[in-house]
Amino acid sequence: MKVDLKEFLEKEDVTLEKEVAIDIRDVTVAGVGHSRKDDDPITLTFYNSEGKNLYISGKTKLSFEASCDRCLEDVDVEVPIALSADIGISDDVFSMDNDEGLDYIEDGYLDVDGMIMAEVHLGWPSKILCKDDCLGLCPVCGKNRNLVACDCDTQVRDPRMMQFLDVFNSSKEV
Ligand SMILES: [Zn+2]
Ligand SMILES: [Zn+2]
Repeated sequence: MKVDLKEFLEKEDVTLEKEVAIDIRDVTVAGVGHSRKDDDPITLTFYNSEGKNLYISGKTKLSFEASCDRCLEDVDVEVPIALSADIGISDDVFSMDNDEGLDYIEDGYLDVDGMIMAEVHLGWPSKILCKDDCLGLCPVCGKNRNLVACDCDTQVRDPRMMQFLDVFNSSKEV
C-alpha cells in the first residue's frame, strides 16, 4: 500500500503507529514464482523530528510457498522484513536518501510495498530445504528418499560419467 506522508507533517515530535496493508501476492525469484501465504499488515512507526526528518520503521515476516531444493516437497519460506527509513522534509516536500539511492516516494506517498519487495529479495534464502538432512530424490528412480529406501545403484552420479558408461556399454554390445 502507499502511505500519504502529508498527514505526518503537522505532527511533530510524537511517535505515531499505523497499520499498513501489504499488497504483495507473489514474488519471482530466479525465474520461479512463489505465492504469498499470509495476509498480515505491517505496523509502521512514524516520527517527525522537528519537521526536518521523518523516521519510519517496522518489522514483520512474510511467508511464501516454495519447494525443497532436494526433494521438491512443499515448504513454507518465511522472509523477515525490517524497514527503516530516514526521510528528509524541506518545504513540506519529502525526499529519501539511502545507501542504495532508491527512492520510494512519489508525490508525497511512500511506496511501502516497494520497500518490502526489496527486503523480500534481500532476505530470500539461498537454499530451501524441508529439513537440514533432507535425502532428496533418487537420481535413478526419482523416489523421495526421505520416504522410500530404494535399492538403486547411485554410485555413478556425474552425468558425464553416465554418458561415458553409455558409450562403453553400447560398444560392448556390438
Ligand atoms: Zn526435502
Ligand atoms: Zn532409486
